[in-house]
Formats: sequence, structure tokens, C-alpha cells
Amino acid sequence: MARVALVTGGTRGIGEAISVELRDAGCRVAANYGGNDERAQAFSERTGIPVYRFDVGDFAAVEDGVARIEADLGPIDILVNNAGITRDGTLHRMDHGSWEDVIRTNLSSCFNCSRAVIEGMRGRKFGRIVNIGSINGQGGQYGQVNYAAAKSGIHGFTKALAQEGAGQGITVNAIAPGYVDTDMVRAVPERVLERIVERIPVGRLGTAHDIARGVLFLTSDEADFITGSTLSINGGQHMY
Ligand code: NDP
Repeated sequence: MARVALVTGGTRGIGEAISVELRDAGCRVAANYGGNDERAQAFSERTGIPVYRFDVGDFAAVEDGVARIEADLGPIDILVNNAGITRDGTLHRMDHGSWEDVIRTNLSSCFNCSRAVIEGMRGRKFGRIVNIGSINGQGGQYGQVNYAAAKSGIHGFTKALAQEGAGQGITVNAIAPGYVDTDMVRAVPERVLERIVERIPVGRLGTAHDIARGVLFLTSDEADFITGSTLSINGGQHMY
């Protein structure tokens, strides 16, 4: 039977590519988004993938959203925690709201969404969770203490949950993308972006598809021996 997948932030950028990749692999996909109805509707019309608006940082809203998806499509087998935002600024200029927004949207969301699906996965003895971290969670980045802390937290979250899921048929892995050509990166000033690309050995920004292929690999039924790992997809920019 077709697997059911929820992709948070699945309507544009990296999430859009993940949603389409999983659909093409035969999954029944639900794409979540936060507030951009126009982009979400256009995505849904283009791809035929149903969209669900709820704030992944809001525990109750996630519970409600997951219940709606499961009523429409069936129990969720695959969760991709992809939704994320940036609110950049050096610490001495960063206001508390920018810290809170990034932590709740990028990190608390992983708890909220995983919590909403984990009991079902445990009951069915199958689950695939992929959390989208970042190269800047691995190495830090000037002007991103909030983002780097949230993304670094995702990597710890992944390893802890992987241990809990291992005996239950649930794998939990992270992907740490490098710089990928999406709206998020297009917001970076051009001269800064040029300097970033100079530091990428492969010589280009990543594409959303580069990341989606990694998600497809980690969520396949056959990937049941891969858990607690972080797959870096960054053109060689950062190597551990
Ligand atoms: P985009 O800004 O292109 O898309 C973000 C997506 O997340 C949108 O669908 C957006 O919905 C959704 N979203 C944002 N806030 C919320 C929320 N509170 N609740 C639900 N959905 C929300 O991002 P990218 O595709 O560039 O990034 C995707 C992920 O990859 C993020 O976690 C990011 O941190 C990570 N990443 C990106 C890199 C890059 O270079 N682009 C590098 C490393 C990691 P809406 O359209 O409604 O706003």
C-alpha cells in the first residue's frame, strides 16, 4: 500500500521538491505550509498534492493538522520536518522575538510534529522521520545564533529519537543541506552569496532536487538500517 507522507513547509523551496519526489515515488503526500496561501494553492494546482495550512511551531495546531491529514489520507508513515525560517542578526542586535520565532519554528516544530505521529508509528511498527538541519547547525554562522542553535538542536534531537525508534521499526535521520537556491538564500545580499559560492568546492549552489533525492533515499522501506545519521548535502563546503 502507498505510504502516507507529511512534508512540513512542503509547498515551496526544498519542501516542494521533497513533496514532488515522494509523490513520484508513489507516496500519498500532504504538504503543510505556514501562511502563504497563494504559493500553496499554485503548488497544489500544479502538482495535485493537497495542502494543509498550520503553524508547525504551535503544538495544538499541529495536533489538529495531523488529525485532518490522517482523516483525509490515512496514518502518516513518513514525516519530513522541513519547515524553517531565518531571522538573522548578530546577538547584540537580536531581539527576543527573533530568537523565539526561530527556535519554535525550526526546532520546537520537530517535537510538535514528531510527537503527533510517533504513537501511530510505534503502533504500526514502521516510521521514517527526516529532519532538515543545516550546514550552519554543524559549523555555526555569523549573524545566526538563533538559526544555528535551532539547527544544531535538530541534530541532537535526531540522534536521541533514533535510539527510541530503533526497536520499533522507526528510523530517524537528518539532512544537513549546504546553500540551496531557494527564496531563503535569494534573500542573502548578492555580494555575500558570491563569496559563499566561492567556498563551495563543487562550484555552485545546491538545488532543491539535490536535497529531495537524499530524503527519498532515507525514507525508502529499504533504508531500515540507517538511523541516527546526518547526511550532509553541501557540494563539499563542510566535511565531517
Ligand atoms: P523557503 O523559505 O523556501 O520555504 C519555507 C517553507 O516553510 C514554506 O513552505 C513555508 O510556508 C514553510 N513555513 C515557514 N514557517 C512555517 C510555519 N511556522 N509553519 C508551517 N510552515 C512554515 O525555505 P527553504 O526551502 O530554503 O528551506 C527549507 C528548509 O531547509 C528549512 O528548514 C531551512 O532552514 C533548511 N535549509 C535551507 C537551506 C537553503 O540554503 N535554502 C540551507 C540549509 C537548510 P509559507 O510558504 O506559507 O511561508
